[in-house]
Amino acid sequence: MSTITLLSQHRDKQNKGKEKSPLLSIIIPMYNEELVIEECHKRVCAVLDGLNEHCEIIYVDDGSSDSSVKLASSFSSEYHQIVTICLSRNFGKEAAMSAGLQAAKGQAVILIDADLQDPPELIPAMVNEWKQGFDVVDMQRHKRHGESWFKRITAAAFYKLINSMSDIPIPQNVGDFRLIDRRVVDEINKLPERTRFMKGLFAWPGFRRTTLQFDRDARQAGETKWNYTKLVHLAFEGITSFSTRPLRLATAAGLFTSLAAIIMAAVVFTKTIIWGDPVAGYPSTIMIVLLLGGVQLLSIGLMGEYVGRLFIEAKQRPLFVVMDQTIKNATANVTMN
Ligand code: UDP
Ligand code: MG
Repeated sequence: MSTITLLSQHRDKQNKGKEKSPLLSIIIPMYNEELVIEECHKRVCAVLDGLNEHCEIIYVDDGSSDSSVKLASSFSSEYHQIVTICLSRNFGKEAAMSAGLQAAKGQAVILIDADLQDPPELIPAMVNEWKQGFDVVDMQRHKRHGESWFKRITAAAFYKLINSMSDIPIPQNVGDFRLIDRRVVDEINKLPERTRFMKGLFAWPGFRRTTLQFDRDARQAGETKWNYTKLVHLAFEGITSFSTRPLRLATAAGLFTSLAAIIMAAVVFTKTIIWGDPVAGYPSTIMIVLLLGGVQLLSIGLMGEYVGRLFIEAKQRPLFVVMDQTIKNATANVTMN
C-alpha cells in the first residue's frame, strides 16, 4: 500500500466525527464582477451538483460598487450552502481570500476567481487528487489565453526573481486557483502577517503537494483589476516578505565598494610616492562619489522597505473588516453523501 493511500486513510479517520462539515468550500473573491458573477454561480453549482456531496460556496465581496453583492445575495442552491461575506471596503484580493479562508468550514477549500478564468469544471479532477492523499493541488497555467505577450514575459520574470530570492520555492505559473486540505488551511490561518503575499503563504506550510496543468481561459466579461503598478508592488511584497537576501546583497555591495576603494587608494598612493605622478583629476572623483552615493541610497531604500513592513506589522491592524455576512442553507432537504 502506498504512503499516499495510507495518508489518505489517516485523514479519513481524522475527519470522522466532523461529518457535518461540508466536503468543499469554494471561495470566490469578487470586486465589481456583476457581468460574470451569475454565469460563475451557474457553472460552479453545476459542477458541485455532479459531486453528490454537500459543499459551501463563499462569495467574498471586496467592497464592490456595482450590483455584485445584490446578485450574490440572491443566489441559492438546492444542495449547497451559500455564504456571502461583505468587506467594508476594497481591501484587495489577498485580504478577500484570507476572509474566505477564515470563514470556510469545508474539509478542503478551493479558491477560484469570479471572472471564470479558472474553469470550475476542473474541480472534480482536483478533488480526485485530494482523495488520493495530496493536501494541496496547485493548478499550473499551461497556456494563458487573452493575456498580452508583455504580461506573460513580466510574469515569467517575476517568478524567476522571486524564486532566486525566496527561501522556499514558489511554484511557477501557479496563481491562486488551488485546492487546500483543511489541515493546511488551519496552518495558513495561523499566519499572522499583514502583508500577505498569498503565493508565498500557500507554499509556506509544505505538506504533500501535486500540480495539475490547465489552460487559463480569457476573462468572460468585465475588466481586469490588474495593472503594472500592482505587479511591481507584488514583486516587492513577495521578495521582502519571503527573503532577507536583498539586505545581504546590500552588505555585499558595501563590502565590495569598500574593498575597491582601498585597492584604488593603495595604487594612487604608490604611484605618487614612487613616480611622483600628480593625482588624477576630478572626473574619477565624481564617478566614485556618484557610485558610492548610488549604492548607499539603494541600501537605505532597501532597509526602508523592511522597516516599512515592520511598521505595518507593528500596528497590528486587522487584515479586513467584515460589514455583513449571510448564510443561506441548501433549499432542498435531501441527504447527499
Ligand atoms: N479581486 C478582488 N479584489 C480586488 C481585485 C480583484 O477580490 O481588489 C478579485 C476579482 O473580482 C477576481 C479575482 O480577484 O475574482 C481576480 O482578479 P482579476 O481578474 O482582476 O485579476 P487577473 O485575473 O487579471 O490577474
Ligand atoms: Mg482575472
